[in-house]
Amino acid sequence: MRILVLIAIGLLLYFIIGNLLRKNKKQMPLISEQMVQCKHCKLHILEKEALKSGDDYYCSQEHLDAK
Ligand SMILES: [Zn+2]
Repeated sequence: MRILVLIAIGLLLYFIIGNLLRKNKKQMPLISEQMVQCKHCKLHILEKEALKSGDDYYCSQEHLDAK
């Protein structure tokens, strides 16, 4: 009987940890992938790929220069 209890606890922990990991994976992109808008052409781009000039964002060097 003791082995069955251990297996049941092990399965329970497996499902709980699995659910926690899945939730974390879904939430991570929302935090790290912030969208910003190019001030020149209004295109939406990822903040990490955007060029920043002061408080404004641009999708490319050309649009940064064309401001
Ligand atoms: Zn642009």
